[in-house]
Amino acid sequence: MINDAAELARTYFETGTLPGLPEGHFIGGKFVAGSDGETIESFDPGSARAFARFSAGKAEDVFRAVEAAEKGLAVWRDTAPAERCRVLNRAAMLIRERAEYLSVLESLDSGKTLDEARGDVRSCARLFEYYAGAADKLEGRSIPLGAGLSSWTEREPVGITAQIIPWNYPTSTFARGIAPALAAGCAVVAKPAETTPFTALVLAGWLHEAGVPAGVVNVVTGLGVDAGAALVRHPSIAHVTFTGSVRTGVGVMQAAAPNVTQLTLELGGKSPLVALADSDVDKVVDGALWAIFSNAGQICSAGSRLVIDRKIHSEVLEKLVQKARALRLGHGLKGPDVGALNSEAHLGRVHAHVEAARQRGRSILTGGKPVTDPETGAGWFYEPTIIDGLPCDDPAVQEEIFGPVLAVQVVDGADEAIAAANGTEYGLVAGIYTRDISEALRLARAIDAGQVTINDYWAGGVEVPFGGNRKSGFGREKGLEGIEAYVRTKAITIRH
Ligand code: NAD
Repeated sequence: MINDAAELARTYFETGTLPGLPEGHFIGGKFVAGSDGETIESFDPGSARAFARFSAGKAEDVFRAVEAAEKGLAVWRDTAPAERCRVLNRAAMLIRERAEYLSVLESLDSGKTLDEARGDVRSCARLFEYYAGAADKLEGRSIPLGAGLSSWTEREPVGITAQIIPWNYPTSTFARGIAPALAAGCAVVAKPAETTPFTALVLAGWLHEAGVPAGVVNVVTGLGVDAGAALVRHPSIAHVTFTGSVRTGVGVMQAAAPNVTQLTLELGGKSPLVALADSDVDKVVDGALWAIFSNAGQICSAGSRLVIDRKIHSEVLEKLVQKARALRLGHGLKGPDVGALNSEAHLGRVHAHVEAARQRGRSILTGGKPVTDPETGAGWFYEPTIIDGLPCDDPAVQEEIFGPVLAVQVVDGADEAIAAANGTEYGLVAGIYTRDISEALRLARAIDAGQVTINDYWAGGVEVPFGGNRKSGFGREKGLEGIEAYVRTKAITIRH
């Protein structure tokens, strides 16, 4: 395998594809052809050209994968936790050794910049390392009941978990669910998003190579309405982690209800970056730029709203607009600041939101239209966009745009900032900028979000639990909390 980004990029630009792409689904420890042979094109968003095809999985492929997972579960749940730990560490090592291949593939499939893809791959490896360390520490407790009775708890794997993966962070989202599931002794059937299927297939193969037994990790590619829907409805699935939109998440809840299947839902967000009057203006500018334009804004936890005190509004916005205009857009493999949006359909959705704001007479300070790679004139790019002075009930404040579009809300004082921050139906993350630590802590407690960062946005790594409140979902991933979804407690009591 070529593991050199420059060489891989050269090969891609010369041939229009990458070597070593997996074919078919990964079921029972090997790549197998799809049941009906149908395939779907996968596009490079940076050039708008198809570079590969993948299998369009159907219910029959899902049935095969679940059957394989049943066999895998029987082996893996009884594998000594210390061995599970060794296998996950070997997997992390393989991912680190081959990181450049995976990063180039992810950049190509998703449209993100190569550096962003490298970050995603590093998180992926780190998640396997982190949960490797937890595999042999899932201990129960003993419960005193008096003479003649002994009682204790055991923490057993929930069973087969379905992982429905989105397209914005395919590599780390794969690991975020699958690493703790494997540490706990579960088996997995994963369904990657239809626009980014390849890294999940590659990772499943590498996990097997690292020692994960056949059938323990299976990947079925295809459309959400076919493969995804069949998977969440399957009666042998004990748990589903779904990461995606609120609308699809609600559908998944409904589909899982008849089997009373356990769920972890990581849904959307409209997260505020709150800047109080006394904050460090340059830190706010850099924080806001990073929070909304990383990954071209396609991040559930993006800081897509700037809630800013009137006293620093013009200074911050002047600098922010200047920096947003200086960002270089381009094909992910050519080292730009901002990559492409993931699909043409998504580009259209983002632009429709901005157009609607324009029609409402909103003030678009910069950006506001789709563009192409300046070198090739191709690709699905969107200008970094800032919409200023929005009232709380404006759709650009209330609706997740999931693109490089910042909605600015001007407030007077900290209490108005809290009200604005809590003024949507989401509750995923919040950033708070102020020099007053008491005020920062008051806001951190008052803002309804799964995680809050003070004087930064997204500080912390895989060790910090992540998840939403309200319509952002429920359950927590990452951190030690992240393993809880994959274990259940059994109480055993003996009368003697
Ligand atoms: P989506 O909901 O359309 O798709 C997500 C996944 O669900 C894909 O794999 C898709 O194939 C699958 N799917 C679609 N229909 C399905 C069905 N009926 N049954 C089962 N699976 C189905 O979302 P998207 O457009 O791919 O992703 C963008 C959304 O995801 C945004 O709203 C974003 O906020 C959210 N997201 C959230 C997080 C988080 O951690 N909270 C992370 C990434 C993305």
